[in-house]
Amino acid sequence: MTGVFVALGSNLDDPEKQLDRALDALSKLPGSRLRAISPRYWSPPWGDPDQPEFLNAVASLETSLKPLELLRLMQQIEDRQGRQRAEDRRWGPRPIDLDLLLYGEQTIRQAQLEVPHARMCERAFVLKPLADLAPQVEVPGRGRVEELLADLDCSAMRRAAKPDPTTEPTR
Ligand code: ADP
Ligand code: MG
Repeated sequence: MTGVFVALGSNLDDPEKQLDRALDALSKLPGSRLRAISPRYWSPPWGDPDQPEFLNAVASLETSLKPLELLRLMQQIEDRQGRQRAEDRRWGPRPIDLDLLLYGEQTIRQAQLEVPHARMCERAFVLKPLADLAPQVEVPGRGRVEELLADLDCSAMRRAAKPDPTTEPTR
């Protein structure tokens, strides 16, 4: 089993519900166990400002899936929740975005999959919830999560009112 972290983000079609659905689906992945879910945060849109705020969180899992198998199943969850892959609007609105942040201590550089996720260290909405779960974890080649977060501005992020952080998925 390998410890992995998955970032979740939504800014369309009831983001609270989208995160609930995606977390439920992550908890049912084959050969995997959902270990912990971070608090959720509302954050201003990144990359493309002309869209609603995002609700973001990070999940910690243990898995026996290979990295590309896990990515494919994550993309299935995105597809089931109505993700449209718009070529022209890379960082546009979406009901759910699932990014594989870390896969154990591995560095993966493939066409479909880069781990650690290429842009995670510049994104407070990723590092903040990740630091809530795993401040000491090392991002291979970059440093510890809490140190990387110290360089970022989290002032525009607001912790969501519900739900409270849980260590077990709701069923
Ligand atoms: P972003 O997550 O940067 O906002 P997208 O979700 O639109 O952008 O990007 C999806 C593409 O990124 C997919 O084609 C996928 O193969 C690729 N990708 C590369 N590395 C990762 C990763 N670590 N997690 C998720 N998708 C990744
Ligand atoms: Mg993505």
